[in-house]
Amino acid sequence: MKLLVTGGAGYVGSVCAAHLLEAGHEVVVLDDLSTGHRDAVPSDATFVEAELGAGAGEVLAAGGFDGVLHFAARSLVGESVTEPEKYWSGNVLASFRLLEAIREHAVPRLVFSSTAATYGEPDRVPIPESAPTLPTNPYGASKLAIDHMITSYATAHGVAATSLRYFNVAGAHVAGDVHLGERHAVETHLIPLVLQVAAGTRESISIFGDDWPTPDGTCVRDYIHVDDLADAHLLALQHATAGRHDVYNLGSGHGFSVLEVVEACRAVTGHPIPAVLTPRRAGDPAVLVAASDRAAEQLGWKPSRTELQRIVADAWEFARGR
Ligand code: UDP
Repeated sequence: MKLLVTGGAGYVGSVCAAHLLEAGHEVVVLDDLSTGHRDAVPSDATFVEAELGAGAGEVLAAGGFDGVLHFAARSLVGESVTEPEKYWSGNVLASFRLLEAIREHAVPRLVFSSTAATYGEPDRVPIPESAPTLPTNPYGASKLAIDHMITSYATAHGVAATSLRYFNVAGAHVAGDVHLGERHAVETHLIPLVLQVAAGTRESISIFGDDWPTPDGTCVRDYIHVDDLADAHLLALQHATAGRHDVYNLGSGHGFSVLEVVEACRAVTGHPIPAVLTPRRAGDPAVLVAASDRAAEQLGWKPSRTELQRIVADAWEFARGR
């Protein structure tokens, strides 16, 4: 298939672009490099440096596209609270313009990066797709708004659409010389922060609270390897049905605590990794674990890189190579 990958210079987008190319697809990456990296774009992809809102229409006007995989987004929860305008503009408005370009140029398929943040504080875990969607910050709200737009475009205009709701994406794509991983200018994610300590660029890791209602008192998250996530995108492309918008949670169904993550990083790196207890971070739910049965049943997706040590080892391989 000929595919447009928006945000293909970012973490998940670049890994998915690599998987798509390995599977024999033709890939055009659209990215404004506001947070992505030019050198993360796989060399076999065509690269267009442009903003999503304006750029997508120009790229799709060339014709012949079989689908769009839409990763480009702002994704900092804290920033979304203090500067929500960036999220309504950069996520919702830009995605609306992408959808309009998809309609205008009759692109048949769309796969969208949605998020567990659309659910907000869950009333039960593991979280199924039928759970209430009550996002607790503008980031999650912006992604949910896009999900709603996509549903309406699938219904009205026949797009075969899929939203994939990621839980905690982690690890790296390590294949020969190609190493693609997490490299954010503002890093907020646990595993890369812990590995910065092991790499000597950070003194210690903060543990955001140890009085949560969890077995060891620290927050529990469902860490999913980025290569497993990429597999789901390829399956979503195959299974998409015209006029339908399917939503799938992507997680392993198993939660790890912050302390378990730090321990795994110590085991993988051999570094003592000093940890400092700090107050809870506002807005953090205690436990987020996915029920991904729907993706298993309907897409045939089964994550295979679910061991925490494996996920951390790949992230460390990537971090060491920087
Ligand atoms: N966390 C932490 N210290 C940090 C960063 C994160 O204790 O320096 C915790 C955070 O409270 C959450 C988990 O690690 O429970 C994962 O956080 P991350 O920001 O990676 O992902 P989120 O679950 O917020 O999307």
